[in-house]
Amino acid sequence: STPSKEINDNEKDKLLDGLLVSGFDEASCISRSQSHFYHKPSPHKPSPYLISKLRKYEELHRKCGPNTRAYNKDMKIIANSKNNSKKSAATTCKYIIWLPANGLGNQIISMASSFLYALLTDRVLVVQFGKDKEGLFCEPFLNSTWLLPENSSFWDAQNVVTYQSIIEMEMTNTSNEYLPSAMYVDLKYSPTNDERFFHCDHNQFLLSKIPLLFLEAGQYFVPSFFMTPIFKDELNKMFPEITSIFHHLGRYLFHPANEAWELITSFYQQHLAKANERVGLQIRVVNPYSTPHQVVMNQILNCTIENKLLPKVRGTKNMSVSSSDKNKTIKKFVLVTSLFQQYGKNLTNMYQNKSTVTGEVIEVYQPSSEKEQKFGDNKHNLKAWVEMYLLSLSDVLVTTYQSTFGYVAKALGNSIPWILYNPVHNTNKEICEREFTLEPCYHYPPLHYCDDGKVIQDVASSFHNIRHCKDFPFGLKLV
Ligand code: GDP
Repeated sequence: STPSKEINDNEKDKLLDGLLVSGFDEASCISRSQSHFYHKPSPHKPSPYLISKLRKYEELHRKCGPNTRAYNKDMKIIANSKNNSKKSAATTCKYIIWLPANGLGNQIISMASSFLYALLTDRVLVVQFGKDKEGLFCEPFLNSTWLLPENSSFWDAQNVVTYQSIIEMEMTNTSNEYLPSAMYVDLKYSPTNDERFFHCDHNQFLLSKIPLLFLEAGQYFVPSFFMTPIFKDELNKMFPEITSIFHHLGRYLFHPANEAWELITSFYQQHLAKANERVGLQIRVVNPYSTPHQVVMNQILNCTIENKLLPKVRGTKNMSVSSSDKNKTIKKFVLVTSLFQQYGKNLTNMYQNKSTVTGEVIEVYQPSSEKEQKFGDNKHNLKAWVEMYLLSLSDVLVTTYQSTFGYVAKALGNSIPWILYNPVHNTNKEICEREFTLEPCYHYPPLHYCDDGKVIQDVASSFHNIRHCKDFPFGLKLV
């Protein structure tokens, strides 16, 4: 091939087939131009329509993103508007302020969902990042910021009218006379919460009149957009392939910032680069009392060995293997991520002291063992992000049921994982099974139809792109 073709190919790979835009200062976000050296090229191509939507969005964000003239003016109007007028304030642009909820995996999938919501509703996405997220992500939009300014009066959504209250008024037929300029939308459903009918056209119509939405979800609520008739055409144009939405949105939005990238690449170079095959094991134990480590450990061994992801061990290692033999053997390196160190340790002991029946050399690395989930902790979040990303660089991936940490890893890496099921509650189910899509599960989806308010009975016949999740049957996912 000619040198100019090579340059073009390199540029195309670097920009992920047009998903990303050129023009960023490379030094300020090294991962953006280097990640394609680490991830395999994706067979999932972004549609031309998605690409054009993204370019238009970037323009909108440059016009109305934080610190712009339009933004400053709009925020003043919203802050000064009274909550009791019949009309909400007229602003140049409309906004979403994304609020964090739950762990980092939950936050990432909910930011991606909020961004798609912004694309569908022509809003500007602003994120409320505390100190705990410093050094994690690059700015995603060219020549602008998505960070809520430190001095903004919108860090506090306490006194903002809630979407919930409007829905309740509607339910009780209380007349709804006023439209606020800002509204707090809480999508942190659980099975016991009331339905908020966010997936219904008429509620979307109401929300479209409010200039500023505070959005808190901690969930991948993208499947609900496919239940909302007014979004359908736009979604179908953007995503002719429905099962790679988060794969595209995730790779578009989340580029490790230089500090995180340095940790990712140095760990990779030191421990993983020389492997013939990289196996990622994400072992998420939420409660070691109800799911004891020994039970989980047995499950991992059964799953990986039965499915030939890792080899069985033989007797004691033959120490007389000459170095030339050694060089011929296949090296499989295992990346273990877990809050608990015993998983990496057990696997290391097992493979260090014994030879494998296949002759493969197995090395095991676990970057951290934080013991427990911490909130608002920068270094802790940095480790979590680094590990999600390292997992995404695996050739073979095993993740734990219901874990959004694993959802992020599989989608960024385009890697359909094996899922470890709950070993205690799923005794008659397989211990692990191959997942069938890259899409995250929406754990607490809408429960009712919009027209008659009846409980959604048969999801598959009502919504042909939506099914219950394998790893969390209450939830829904796009298929
Ligand atoms: P989920 O709870 O499994 O859905 O995943 P989240 O990422 O939302 O929340 C779990 C949080 O616990 C992570 O964000 C980390 O802070 C921490 N955590 C859980 N598992 C791991 C792990 O394997 N490695 C690291 N470094 N942190 C973890």
